[in-house]
Amino acid sequence: MAHEYKLLIDGELVGGATSFAVINPATEEVIANCPKADEALLNKAVDAAERAFPEWSAKSYDERAGYLSRLADAIEARSDELARLLTAEQGKPIDQAQFEMMAAVGTLRAFLGMRVEDEVIRDDGGNRVVEHRTPLGVCASITPWNFPVILLINKLGPALLAGNTLVSKPAPTTPLTTCVVGEIARDILPAGVFNVLCDENELGPLMTTHPKIAKISFTGSTATGAKVLASAAESIKRVTLELGGNDAAIVLDDVPAKLAAEKVYAGAMANAGQICVAIKRAYVPSSMYDEFCEEIAKLAGAAVVDDGSKQGSTVGPLQNRMQFEKVQGLIEDAKTRGTLVAGGEIPDRKGYFIPPTIFRDLDDDAPLVAEEQFGPVLPVQKYDDIADVIARANNSDYGLAGTVWGMDLDRATAVAMQIDSGTVWVNQHLAIDPTIPFRGSKMSGMGGELGVAGLLEYTQPHIVNSVPLA
Ligand code: NAD
Repeated sequence: MAHEYKLLIDGELVGGATSFAVINPATEEVIANCPKADEALLNKAVDAAERAFPEWSAKSYDERAGYLSRLADAIEARSDELARLLTAEQGKPIDQAQFEMMAAVGTLRAFLGMRVEDEVIRDDGGNRVVEHRTPLGVCASITPWNFPVILLINKLGPALLAGNTLVSKPAPTTPLTTCVVGEIARDILPAGVFNVLCDENELGPLMTTHPKIAKISFTGSTATGAKVLASAAESIKRVTLELGGNDAAIVLDDVPAKLAAEKVYAGAMANAGQICVAIKRAYVPSSMYDEFCEEIAKLAGAAVVDDGSKQGSTVGPLQNRMQFEKVQGLIEDAKTRGTLVAGGEIPDRKGYFIPPTIFRDLDDDAPLVAEEQFGPVLPVQKYDDIADVIARANNSDYGLAGTVWGMDLDRATAVAMQIDSGTVWVNQHLAIDPTIPFRGSKMSGMGGELGVAGLLEYTQPHIVNSVPLA
């Protein structure tokens, strides 16, 4: 019998006010009907989270970590099933889905050891000033469709560990894995501590203006992030925004072209390029430009573009029709401005498939270079001068991450120091680690996640400043 997906409200798995179809992007077939929440169900979930807050926040960090540890074990026990569902709803190849599940469980476990300690700011025998950190109350998480499980865990872990309760809303096109995490959590967490609601894009504005929600943790596009920030302003909600990026990879002239092409290709094409920190434009020295383009074109040509559930598929479909059409538009536009060296033709089949596509000879102001493509299409740009390429990499409203590739580590690191983004990786990519803070600069975000710094964002500083009564 087909799995029946449910919302999680106040410790109960419940149906929605209505329902909507979830599509497999590889086949365009309906894989399930997902329950859809309305405003009344949102209010029920928020009220339940508010009721659960006093008892949950009164528990010690160790007690809450115990619950989350059991949750990590239970998610791990169902991770094969979750990985298959992730491939079905998101499209990514099954090995990448298994990796996301492993990373989600590992991330949740890595949070468990984190603690927020009281800080004695002054204790001079008379005046004692202590900064405590108290939880905020009911928090809300809003997540996108590219990594539905790990991005949920990045919020759920620290929010609950710090003593908050949570109402979570996945993206409309990838809600099912979040429903299953809710189903698992129902048997582990006290009622109301974690709630799951699904929608077709209607609930976000209701959550960001809800008077009882203290904080919004949002991951998604910069355009929606700006709306979240504007509507959260009304009630001065705490807001964490993890937004878009247009990450540059700078290849230095001491790297063999073939090696550089392999590294850049992997960083651009994982998850069909639908990663906030994917390499979205590559800058390559003119001395090796032709060779680099030839090598990366070979890698693109060797990709196995297929349904992610088929073993051997290396690039799955785009996650949804809107993104599929947006990326096609960027490709068609780039064909009129530069030279196509790989891919570029949409296969005549069902599903939102775009083969890995590489362009060269584009100007930096071409939309494919200047905008976030969020798909398996990479512009390779030529440069001659290091100062100039650094300026070109920084010439963006975004500042999420970036990479520098060089055999001389000191020289590569010196270049990395000049890149204006929240993270710069040198000779590696996607080295996201739950113990290392992650945050975008400029229009890529506000505040951030991961590390103890991320945990602190789910707390309010509370100063107690005392002197003896004289
Ligand atoms: P999106 O902004 O369209 O949607 C994200 C979420 O916001 C969805 O759950 C959606 O239902 C919800 N939403 C829609 N309208 C809303 C509103 N008015 N108020 C509140 N919420 C609303 O993003 P997407 O297309 O799902 O995701 C892709 C984007 O996410 C890319 O730009 C990518 O770079 C970014 N992203 C960033 C990070 C990061 O850590 N910085 C990670 C992953 C993805």
